[in-house]
Amino acid sequence: MDIMLGYQCSVCGEKYSPPEIEYVCPQDGGNLNVLLDYASINKTSRPEKITSSQDFSMWRYLLLLPVADPGEMDTPLRAVGWTPTYSPPVLTAELGLSTLWIKDESSNPTASFKDRASALLVARARELGAEVVITASSGNAGAALAGMAAAVGQKSVILVPKTAPPAKIAQLLVFGAEVVLVDGNYDAAFDLTLLAAQEFGWYCRNTGYNAFTAEGKKTAAFEIWENVLLAEQLERPLCVFVSVGDGNIISGLHKGFKDLQELGWLENMPRIFGVQAEGSAAVANAFDAGTESISAVASDTLADSISVDLPRDGLRALQAATQTNGAYVKVSDTEILSAIASLGRVGIFAEPAGAAGYAGVVKAVDNAVIEKIDPVLALVTGSGLKDTGAAMQAAGEAPVIEPSLQALKGILGT
Ligand SMILES: *Cc1c(COP(=O)(O)O)cnc(C)c1O
Ligand SMILES: [Zn+2]
Repeated sequence: MDIMLGYQCSVCGEKYSPPEIEYVCPQDGGNLNVLLDYASINKTSRPEKITSSQDFSMWRYLLLLPVADPGEMDTPLRAVGWTPTYSPPVLTAELGLSTLWIKDESSNPTASFKDRASALLVARARELGAEVVITASSGNAGAALAGMAAAVGQKSVILVPKTAPPAKIAQLLVFGAEVVLVDGNYDAAFDLTLLAAQEFGWYCRNTGYNAFTAEGKKTAAFEIWENVLLAEQLERPLCVFVSVGDGNIISGLHKGFKDLQELGWLENMPRIFGVQAEGSAAVANAFDAGTESISAVASDTLADSISVDLPRDGLRALQAATQTNGAYVKVSDTEILSAIASLGRVGIFAEPAGAAGYAGVVKAVDNAVIEKIDPVLALVTGSGLKDTGAAMQAAGEAPVIEPSLQALKGILGT
């Protein structure tokens, strides 16, 4: 069943139907929201139909996604999503919160949240018969596209800044993508990708450009709905914290909750909190200034996955917070490193951008942006294995000793 009605521009409200338009609004470059036929979804599906599914991946929500079943059973593409939600008592107590959940996206096949978008994009690319899918990336979106494409034999081309962490570049290469390192930042790679897609007629996955990325990312909201909102009787709205670079994850989460609300399946809209690095805070700056116009910054943060000059999905990212009674929080690189250490102490290994959401929770509690009785969920968006350099900065070095018991005793102080 085709549940997609078309697109609507998030800036001017104009409606479009594919294939007339495939990417952003031709009038103002606004991001397009995918319009779904909620009435027809409600005729064939009930929440129970989904919650009783035995498909433990993002594809359990196929009835709410604008693509047909991609098949490809028993491939990494089918293993994306349904990530674990932890509730670590140590961190809950440390912050003095009543309830804290950490949803850990590092268990996705390529170890970041981006798999949700790339899995859906690859499904879409195959429907369109695209020969090549291209994307710009700071690393994770590329790894996710390369991995999902490899899983189903789709060709991919990835442009990343040459400064991307080596682990992310290694991942791209191992997945067999055509990898090109750009001598420039993410924004430069982004612009070049658009030119290349147009020149060669390739399908472009770019975040904040292709409307389908948010449709994949919204599946995390569905999982939060199933595993937290339906499972717990919360007396206050859930506060969801997520790190923001281009602003597409946060927009996707908001879209997911809005879909559920339109369907009449969601009782209380969660409050959405965006977390940005102080050195890459274009959306947070706009939030603080109370304006919807987002100005570029010269980004500078060790959290490479959220290091963005001009967020490509900034307006929707801002609205995700303003329309849900959420907020934006800025965190320093030091606070991000300390969040890596805190999460590590309860067995969760996050890269800097992955830990930034949790750093935002710490900050929001300290600054009384939320109350301690508010139920809180922080997303960990990417694995610490992606950036071991930052991990070592957070954790410190290990001592080296001669292989003798005496030397060991000396170090252990026993
Ligand atoms: C991409 C990414 C983000 C930010 O997502 P945006 O859609 O760019 O806001 C956060 N954390 C990690 C690990 C990422 O890879
Ligand atoms: Zn428009």
